[in-house]
Amino acid sequence: MDAIALPKNLFDRAMKAGVTTIRLEFSGGNDEGYLDVVVEGGDNLMGKKNDPKLDEDIQEWADDAYGYSGAGDGSAYGDTVIYDLVKMKVTTQEWMMRRTESPEEEGDLEVGSDDEGSCCRECGNPMMVGDDGVSHHLSDDGWVDHDLDADHVAIAEVE
Ligand SMILES: [Zn+2]
Repeated sequence: MDAIALPKNLFDRAMKAGVTTIRLEFSGGNDEGYLDVVVEGGDNLMGKKNDPKLDEDIQEWADDAYGYSGAGDGSAYGDTVIYDLVKMKVTTQEWMMRRTESPEEEGDLEVGSDDEGSCCRECGNPMMVGDDGVSHHLSDDGWVDHDLDADHVAIAEVE
């Protein structure tokens, strides 16, 4: 982005207030432009006392003059313009966020065991073996099916 000349009125006021740098930090990317104005100076506090509207007026001017739209596809970017009133230089810098990808990692595709899936070899109904080693048929809602247990002992299917 090209820097726009600081209006004489603002420049004079800034010099009088002892401002050393005026930093315009534009950012956007989501179809909205933002501007932070950072005014720095050795006796900035005193300057502000004498010219309390200076920051605000710089902000207003920069908003109008640059008309930063911030248009974009969602990736953040920005522009920084620094007016150095001591060296009488302007610095511009652009930045943008880029997606960075780490190296791919490959591993074996594992298929987990299906503990819930045990079925009785005799009748095909779901079953489980309790911690005590005793097997039980299970009903659809997961409880022990005593009727089937009474009929025959559940035997797990051998895989
Ligand atoms: Zn069974």
